[in-house]
Amino acid sequence: MDAAVFFSLFNGYSLAYDDIIFLPNYVDFGVADVSLVTKVTTSLSLSLPFISSPMDTVTESGLAIALALEGGLGIIHYNMSPERQAEEIAKVKRYKNGFIAEPYTLSPHHTIEDAVELNRKYGYTTIPITEDGSPHGLLISLLTKFDYSLQYGLHKGKKVQERMRPIEDIPVARHGDITENGELLLQKANLILLDKRGIALPVVDDKGCLEYLVTRTDVEKSEAYPCASLDAKRQLLVGAAVETQPSAYDRIAKLVAAGVDVIIFDTSQGYSSYEVQLIKDMKQNHPDIQVIAGNVVTGEATRALITAGADAIRIGMGIGSICTTQEVCGAGRGQASAVYECAAVAKKYGVPVIADGGISQISHITKALGLGASCVMMGSLFACTDEAPGEVMYEGGVKFKKYRGMASPEALALGGSKRYSIEKERFRVPEGVPGKVVSRGSIHSWVPILAAGVKQGMQKLGAKAIIDLHCLVSSGAIRIERRSEGAKHEGGVHDIS
Ligand code: 5GP
Repeated sequence: MDAAVFFSLFNGYSLAYDDIIFLPNYVDFGVADVSLVTKVTTSLSLSLPFISSPMDTVTESGLAIALALEGGLGIIHYNMSPERQAEEIAKVKRYKNGFIAEPYTLSPHHTIEDAVELNRKYGYTTIPITEDGSPHGLLISLLTKFDYSLQYGLHKGKKVQERMRPIEDIPVARHGDITENGELLLQKANLILLDKRGIALPVVDDKGCLEYLVTRTDVEKSEAYPCASLDAKRQLLVGAAVETQPSAYDRIAKLVAAGVDVIIFDTSQGYSSYEVQLIKDMKQNHPDIQVIAGNVVTGEATRALITAGADAIRIGMGIGSICTTQEVCGAGRGQASAVYECAAVAKKYGVPVIADGGISQISHITKALGLGASCVMMGSLFACTDEAPGEVMYEGGVKFKKYRGMASPEALALGGSKRYSIEKERFRVPEGVPGKVVSRGSIHSWVPILAAGVKQGMQKLGAKAIIDLHCLVSSGAIRIERRSEGAKHEGGVHDIS
């Protein structure tokens, strides 16, 4: 049945992903032809429709880096001080670069210990040496990690000028060597770097002053992760969650200074005057930063947040794997119904929606996308990876990772109560639970499996791209049915031992 007719028939029912099924459609292409490129907000695109939940057992810089390298997006949680959260953002932004416009530099008169300290603080091992030590001073040389060692006190107390490479031994590009029609071309710089066997390529102006640095490590990362989610400076994209309270203004200012690309207003009930005001202020004060608003589950709430200025809407209430909101509060909605209705409203404004929570199988991702979501946000399916911050546990020889709701008693105590607007209450009833999930190894092996499963599902539905899937469902070319209990039984593994 046509999706619009189907949902009008089930008006008044809260349907979950498992309650629905898409009927297969005519196919004339292979799984390899399916693309998962999508929009996460009105102006940001991703190679994969996967976003990690801002939860303290899911997303800190380690997972955000790994997921962005694979083509998704990580959202750093806010159960930490604004300063620490900004530092987590900065770690993601520093991980990978194109043209580094403000490289960390030293002068020949600094010491090897100064270089070691720069390395320890920021993780950079290749340091341009300029006459006065400033980022755009006259280029003198380069100091790399191969040029010194403090083992056995070997170069202790030595000046940089005693260990730096002779300038004639390092490749240097003039601005004009790597431009075409006035535009700087990273590919040209990379080719020089590779051809001249350089560790890094300083780019200088006519006077020999340092303009940019291009490093070999960044070239290698680009080769290894060709679908990475990148900003205009070729740094990884990253988002951060903030509270929907006045304290958010200070937090946002720090996150923006650290280079955040997306701010998520993170509350379990986003249809509120507080959130509407915050979105308006955010768009006024930081028009270049994308805003994801939510969480909502109805068409009218979606419209209110979009009208306030949101660049994407996050859908879901009470359906997370660790979540008890529906049981405690009697409020929420089945996720299939919520995603369909909210996406239908958001589509009229050209604003993408993100289906958040309740994804426990790959088919749920395909269903969320079919119902109109442009991306899915997942907690448990990322908490299980090596890069997630949750602690590792072993039981009966099986490896688990800790995963807990942000409204579980432990997470509430660390700040999660802001998300549920109960931090000032005398009695705080948890709306989430702590638990554990079976380990799935690294994001770098797990995400390709998720992506492959979604591509298989989309191919069976005859959709080569997420946007095609949306059109096929809304035009009625892909039909939808309610699954009976028998159909659910039949559709799972059954009658084997
Ligand atoms: P999952 O992917 O594990 O099914 O759900 C993750 C989502 O659940 C998060 O993105 C967030 O929206 C929501 N969530 C996280 N912690 C809690 C909690 O303690 N209670 C509730 N109600 N929702 C939570």
